[in-house]
Amino acid sequence: MNELFETGVPKTAATDEIAKHYKEIIRLLGENVTREGLLKTPKRVAFAMQFMTQGYSMNPEEVLRSALFEEEKYQQMVIVKDIDFFSMCEHHMLPFFGKAHVAYIPNKHLTGLSKIARVVDIFAHRLQIQERLTTEIKDCIQKTLNPMGVMVVIEAQHMCMQMRGVQKQHSVTTTSDFTGVFQSAITREEFMNLIKQK
Ligand SMILES: [Zn+2]
Repeated sequence: MNELFETGVPKTAATDEIAKHYKEIIRLLGENVTREGLLKTPKRVAFAMQFMTQGYSMNPEEVLRSALFEEEKYQQMVIVKDIDFFSMCEHHMLPFFGKAHVAYIPNKHLTGLSKIARVVDIFAHRLQIQERLTTEIKDCIQKTLNPMGVMVVIEAQHMCMQMRGVQKQHSVTTTSDFTGVFQSAITREEFMNLIKQK
C-alpha cells in the first residue's frame, strides 16, 4: 500500500531513510526525539522535503511541448505575471519565495499559459538559487518554443537572509534574464511597465 502524507507525495524507497536522518538531526539539535509532539516529525519532514524537491523527477520541456501549438500571426508579447512560487535555497535549505513574471514573443509557436506557471513550479521545486531559477526558466522556454525572445523576472524574499538577520525583513531581491528581442531596452521596458501595473 502506498502511504501518503499531507503533501500528497507518495512514499518512496528514500522516505524512511530521510526520516531516519532527520530523527538524528533533531536529536543532535538537543531535542528529545521521543516526546509526543516530535514522534511523527521526522516522517513529516521527509515527506515535506520530498514534496519541495519533486521537480527533480519532472521534465519541464515536456510540459511545454505537451501544449505546443502553431500560430503564424500572433507576434505580440505574451505575458504571464505574478506567478507565485516557493523554493528552497541550496545553501541553507530554507525557503525563498515570491513572484515570477515571464514574457515571450512567439515565433510561430505558442504554449498554454498555465504551462508557463508549471515550468516555474517545476524548477522551483528543486534546491535553487534565485539567479539559476531565473535562467533555467528562460532557457527552457527559449529551447522549447524558440521564440523571438523570452524574459524572466523574479522577485523574492529569502528566509535564510531574513531569519539570520543578514537582510532586513521584507526586503526583496530581483533577478532577470532574457534572450533575443529583449536585448532591446525598449522591449524590456515595455515588459517591466506591464509587470508594475496592478
Ligand atoms: Zn540561503
